[in-house]
Amino acid sequence: MTMYELITKKKLGQALTTTEVNWLIENYTSGKIPDYQMSALLMAICLKGMTDQETTDLTMAMAMSGDTLDLTRNLGANTIDKHSTGGVGDKTTLIVAPIIAALGLPVAKMSGRGLGHTGGTVDKLESIPGFNTEMPTDTFLNIVKKHGICVTGQSGNMAPADKKIYALRDVTATVDSIPLIAASIMSKKIAAGAEHILLDVKTGSGAFMKDLPSAKKLAEAMVAIGKGCGRKTAALITDMSQPLGNAIGNSLEIKEVVQVLQNCENSPQDLVDVCVELSAEMLHLVDFGDMDFCRAKVKEVLANGQALDKFAEMVCAQGGDSSYVTSPEKFKTAKHIKEIYATETGYVREFDTEGVGIAALLLGAGRQTATDVIDYAAGIVLHAKIGTRVEKGEPIATLYTNKQETIQAAAEKFVSCVSFAETQPQLPNLIHQRV
Ligand code: URA
Repeated sequence: MTMYELITKKKLGQALTTTEVNWLIENYTSGKIPDYQMSALLMAICLKGMTDQETTDLTMAMAMSGDTLDLTRNLGANTIDKHSTGGVGDKTTLIVAPIIAALGLPVAKMSGRGLGHTGGTVDKLESIPGFNTEMPTDTFLNIVKKHGICVTGQSGNMAPADKKIYALRDVTATVDSIPLIAASIMSKKIAAGAEHILLDVKTGSGAFMKDLPSAKKLAEAMVAIGKGCGRKTAALITDMSQPLGNAIGNSLEIKEVVQVLQNCENSPQDLVDVCVELSAEMLHLVDFGDMDFCRAKVKEVLANGQALDKFAEMVCAQGGDSSYVTSPEKFKTAKHIKEIYATETGYVREFDTEGVGIAALLLGAGRQTATDVIDYAAGIVLHAKIGTRVEKGEPIATLYTNKQETIQAAAEKFVSCVSFAETQPQLPNLIHQRV
């Protein structure tokens, strides 16, 4: 078998066999196949696609290229993981994970850091002083056994083939291929070892998949892979046509998480509703009960404070200062604050949500490159969402930063991302589809 033959086969639109895919991943990971040949193959995959079987084979080969966890052996049945394809203000994991753990299901979750316009769960958690997201696997599992929950960064040697291929895709214009994206995401989920996987595929102007048909294709591809790998998998396609909740930026988002977990009446309803639905779907996937029963149980642990207590317990177990959960006003406010005012009287019609994420990035809430340092207090709090009636000059958002020099550019960016209408626009569906 040679790489030349595999490239030619894919160029002609033929499917690679399981043996060929395994050979490819093994030899690319070990450095025997050079980047220029892998790039040619990736481009052929972008143009010709992959069958479900090839995509599943690619996922399994990448998942098996490094360390893997067997959560069922360590934690028993009913292990469940969730993955979001990412967006702006997406703090759902931090609400859903304690809800699920409060209901007695083990949550052993490995999450990512933010890059570009999207935030990352690990960065949000690290805004809590002392919170540790890096630990040996034994410690991770022991925390889950003792407390029922642990959320960390991905272990260093998990799916190294994906890491290497993703870096190459990033510089060869081969990221936007549904089979490659699906295999990349699912390889990390399969390696992380949960028996059940719920995928939250975002769609809209702040999402990776801007329109519903492409989000559906990605969701279907990932669900097919999950099933092909023997994991019970489902996907919800949820809305990202505007930021989720009101807060964007790390400690600002943790404050909003606490507000939702405290069951505060003025919590953002879109965030609450999406979290209830995701949590109920996860419970349903592990046969906890029918959807109405699962929703009722989720609302019960939000109302009785058990989900909030579980979050505080997790913070403490991972070395964080849980007084920030009981008293979120302890988070330092950024030095520079700027109000943004409505430029017209009317209704908020639309957000360029990716642009809002970029405005938050300019304020210091995110990273342009993997080595950038985050300002945890930086970000944006929205006072108006799609459909809100506003008067010209009324505050629609507040910007926070410790970098005075970028606040004007961020403000201009934000203003350019909001549009207004004279009549009330239709509100976006929060849950577009279940796959
Ligand atoms: N996220 C991933 O993990 N992989 C992709 O290919 C795209 C988004």
